[in-house]
Amino acid sequence: MECMRCGTCCVAPDISALGKPPGVRCSNLLNDGSCSIYNERPAVCRGYRPDEICLKVAAPTLDRRVAKYLELFGL
Ligand code: SF4
Ligand code: SF4
Repeated sequence: MECMRCGTCCVAPDISALGKPPGVRCSNLLNDGSCSIYNERPAVCRGYRPDEICLKVAAPTLDRRVAKYLELFGL
């Protein structure tokens, strides 16, 4: 599936390569859902692919999508 640039995967999961705890917005995430360090982003970000999780967390707002993601993974 195609990425909808909803931003959820740059907020909800913990990303140790960035020292980012779960539920905290990555400081590199821009308001349009793009990444300000796209060419230098860590391997974990490069390897991330949209999947059914993106659909499972669908919601009208980023806060709600993040809440659904955290709930889904018990974070
Ligand atoms: S959660 Fe999925 S759809 Fe949203 S930005 Fe990440 S990969 Fe793209
Ligand atoms: S570095 Fe870029 S791709 Fe990785 S979580 Fe942050 S904004 Fe998203």
